[in-house]
Amino acid sequence: MRLRVRIGELSGVEPELLSSAYSMWCEGTICDASKLEIVRVPAAWACPECQRPIPRGERLRCASCEVPARLRQGDEIFLDRIEAYYGRKPMIYTTVDFHRDNLEGYFGEYTFWVRSVADHPDNIYNGREWDFWQYTGTGRVPGIEGDTDINVFAGDRKDWKAWVSASAL
Ligand SMILES: [Zn+2]
Repeated sequence: MRLRVRIGELSGVEPELLSSAYSMWCEGTICDASKLEIVRVPAAWACPECQRPIPRGERLRCASCEVPARLRQGDEIFLDRIEAYYGRKPMIYTTVDFHRDNLEGYFGEYTFWVRSVADHPDNIYNGREWDFWQYTGTGRVPGIEGDTDINVFAGDRKDWKAWVSASAL
């Protein structure tokens, strides 16, 4: 398995720290034999009006348009690629906040499992298509003592069977 992560210069993430944290976290998991590849992305600014790139070290303001420069890259931390040894894309489980801060507008080709206990995900996930919705973390189910998560699948019985057979290993 290989993971590739893009880390922006201004993301607040130390690549060395992430790297060592990752290898500690991996021990004894299916990621044990995996390789973490970190791609560092330098910060870059441009004028939002005329699109002129603003070179590093220059005032962060467009001299001709007199507007503040906008960061074009450098604050991201993105999982670029996961090549699971299963040979398929993983499902992304996310909360509303994490989605808004990190995932919105990206990862369209992934299957999503969204947590949303206060409202329907269609109302708060800004157009994200989802296959699973965790609507509670305090549900009660026969056979499980105490609170448990409960999820719904976006589809009917036929869709579910199709999903399961397409996801079979
Ligand atoms: Zn400009």
